[in-house]
Amino acid sequence: MNPSNPSTQAVVKTPPVAAPGPSNFIRDIVLEDLKANKYGGRVQTRFPPEPNGYLHIGHAKSICLNFGLAAEFGGKTNLRFDDTNPSKEETEYVESIKENVRWLGFDWEDRLFYASDYFDQLHEWAVTLIKAGKAYVDDLTADEIRMHRGTLTEPGKDSPYRKRSVEENLDLFERMRAGEFPDGSRVLRAKIDMASPNLNMRDPVMYRILHAEHHRTGNKWCIYPMYDYAHGESDSIEEVTHSICTLEFEDHRPLYNWFIQQLGIFPSRQIEFDRLNLTYTLLSKRKLLQLVEEGHVSGWDDPRMPTISGIKRRGYTPEAIRNFCGAIGVSKTNGSIELAMLEHFVREDLNKRAQRVMAVLRPLKVVIDNYPENQIEEMDAVNNPEDPSAGTRKVSFSRVLYIEQDDFREDPPKQYYRLSPGREVRLRYGYFVTCTSVVKKDQGEVAEVHCTYDPQTRGGNSPPDGRKVKSTIHWVSAAHAIDAEVRIYDNLFLKEDPNQTEAGQNFTANLNPKSLEILSPAKVEPSLANATVGNRYQFERLGYFCVDPDSAPGKLVFNRTVALKDTWAKIEKKTEKGSPKR
Ligand code: ATP
Ligand code: MG
Repeated sequence: MNPSNPSTQAVVKTPPVAAPGPSNFIRDIVLEDLKANKYGGRVQTRFPPEPNGYLHIGHAKSICLNFGLAAEFGGKTNLRFDDTNPSKEETEYVESIKENVRWLGFDWEDRLFYASDYFDQLHEWAVTLIKAGKAYVDDLTADEIRMHRGTLTEPGKDSPYRKRSVEENLDLFERMRAGEFPDGSRVLRAKIDMASPNLNMRDPVMYRILHAEHHRTGNKWCIYPMYDYAHGESDSIEEVTHSICTLEFEDHRPLYNWFIQQLGIFPSRQIEFDRLNLTYTLLSKRKLLQLVEEGHVSGWDDPRMPTISGIKRRGYTPEAIRNFCGAIGVSKTNGSIELAMLEHFVREDLNKRAQRVMAVLRPLKVVIDNYPENQIEEMDAVNNPEDPSAGTRKVSFSRVLYIEQDDFREDPPKQYYRLSPGREVRLRYGYFVTCTSVVKKDQGEVAEVHCTYDPQTRGGNSPPDGRKVKSTIHWVSAAHAIDAEVRIYDNLFLKEDPNQTEAGQNFTANLNPKSLEILSPAKVEPSLANATVGNRYQFERLGYFCVDPDSAPGKLVFNRTVALKDTWAKIEKKTEKGSPKR
């Protein structure tokens, strides 16, 4: 019964998966099946996206699970496009999905498949089912079928066409395929049980008529298999051993198993897990598409989007996402994960790999009056305290600098230890400086701050008298700094659950009007002159930033990936087991 099995080719290369965390129920099932030699010791999984949008962080969870499990047990993972719906699918989505899976660090090698590859086989099996009296052509309209379906408490009613002879069904199905009938006029249904307590078993539709061009099969077909008919069979064709999917398909499992039994095909085992939900985030391709189409974001790869393309552009690393997906694990109940937890994993990873630099986002001019007018000193700065092999670099120090506006207060409140009149602070890698006076603009706003420096504190070291300061601030030399545009992002939605709206509103009412703030010109140290798109840095004291593709020669654009303050690490410390708050 099985066509040539494409999944048994090629040797698996172990992808760079995160170290396996504690076991979970899916892994336990795989282990049991391996022990019982259920599939001859094979582990074959697949990631089956529908190419109707860009992948998001929820898909990353599924990708890490499928590829991670197979890799752990020497198995293989297929990438399969579930392209049964010609009207919504586009080649752009196929390409972005392939790129995203690769970027996450996974490799399907030569096992790239499409459900549309199986249209001939699926059609053949439909004919088999008709011949066995297990499927029939129904002339009811979609509305009538719905009305006949019954409810959770009431059984459905048989269609008047349910008793059609095998010959008539074969004839009508062939004429449906040949294009004799208009869209929606007839469907092919499985003949199961209109009284089943499971609504999915009440004679589900297998094929519909759709005179639409398909991105791969062109105009070959004008009937298309329904997802519920195609999905399980595609798994069987590929001899997928463990078909892992999200919980909403639990009630569909009996139907998939019914097809497997009727057709006597490879018995893939479906296992359901909880889909990822994140606070302040929407994970639905349909809604993300709406954000793109209505222009609420600049595109699928807007750094505020939870798409893989968006978070990549934002500066998240594949390692951070894999570690996050490993840590959240899987469960049998849907919950919600704190966005702060994802950000925690991003920080943890960037802390290890990002070079430190100094950048001033909202510049305030500082003049060091007793520093020689034309003097420039090259100060040593550490590139990454977490990684001594990253070495040091030179940072130019001069008489006129920029510091953050926030690091100066003319009237400092209590507990404010940064620069203010009469106060001494350390300029990181520079000198101790003391504020002597301020120059104001007409409106009273501070235009520049004047200081004196202590030559005995070169490199930011304490002077011989052991004098201490309470604050260290960052700076850039005005003459050496480069201008940059810096984009600061906040949550895209104001509500923890963006779907929670007042009557008559939709989720866009919860969009955060301040999710993007553009700072320009910010001043960054000259070592960033050669920064290229995708490079990631820690701007000291400010957060992690990466170079945006909007950069061009002479124009540097940075995205703030994430700020430094880790709220989740604090939550984690407070919760007894250190498990994420759900
Ligand atoms: P969406 O609801 O965003 O449109 P989908 O489930 O329709 O997603 P598919 O392309 O059909 O998207 O999904 C491919 C795979 O990714 C499926 O196996 C699906 O179960 C899984 N998946 C989708 N969303 C999530 C999520 N939020 N968490 C975990 N897995 C997910
Ligand atoms: Mg779907």
